Amino acid sequence: MPKNVEKMSINYSPNFDTTKRHKNKIKYIIYHYTGMKNDSSAIKKLTNPNSKVSCHYYITKNGKLIQMVPDLYISWHAGKSKWKQDESLNKNSIGIEISNPGYELGYRNFNKKQISCLIKISNILIKKYKIKKENILGHSDIAPLRKKDPGERFPWKLLASKKIGIWHKINLKKISNLRGKKSEYKMEFFLIKLRKFGYSTTYSNTNELKKIIKSFQMRFRPELIDGKFDRECFEIIKSLI
Ligand SMILES: [Zn+2]
Repeated sequence: MPKNVEKMSINYSPNFDTTKRHKNKIKYIIYHYTGMKNDSSAIKKLTNPNSKVSCHYYITKNGKLIQMVPDLYISWHAGKSKWKQDESLNKNSIGIEISNPGYELGYRNFNKKQISCLIKISNILIKKYKIKKENILGHSDIAPLRKKDPGERFPWKLLASKKIGIWHKINLKKISNLRGKKSEYKMEFFLIKLRKFGYSTTYSNTNELKKIIKSFQMRFRPELIDGKFDRECFEIIKSLI
């Protein structure tokens, strides 16, 4: 249990693998939003044995931290997922749920208390498990066809300024005129870059392709999430790899 997070409480979930893992198996931090109306309904779900879902840490609407599964046990937050060569990321990740009703129930900004709590716990975990910046991801990054959380209001840029996760290095003012402009490159070229970065780009129809592009946009181009690959998206992915 992290010692220097004040006010952490414990509310254990029964949803985890009973075999303990070694600490050097922990390679990723995955962020989620709860997508539930309020804390009590989210906590109820995450601690209900029938739901088969859980997380290691839960951040309430007021920025309080709750541990639900100890770090060395595998919690059930990622589901079917892929990043680079890793599949089913539960086994090598820590899952953090942040209270937010999400797209379906009224998506809103994460508040200051939540972000400050998130920064504290992330820093502790990064240090403790030597987690690389590029392995700090959102649920939608690792399951773009199924998931939209934590969504475009998640403060990736701010977190990256605190060395949590990564952000691109290009000056958006300089390239924002490329937004919505058709790229001279072929889609396949963009997908190759996404794949190189880590995204799984397997899709079977245009709707799925759109979801993959939207996942990238929610993460790195929150100003416009249209599922269309444009010149700005191309410049961003280029700068990331
Ligand atoms: Zn999620």
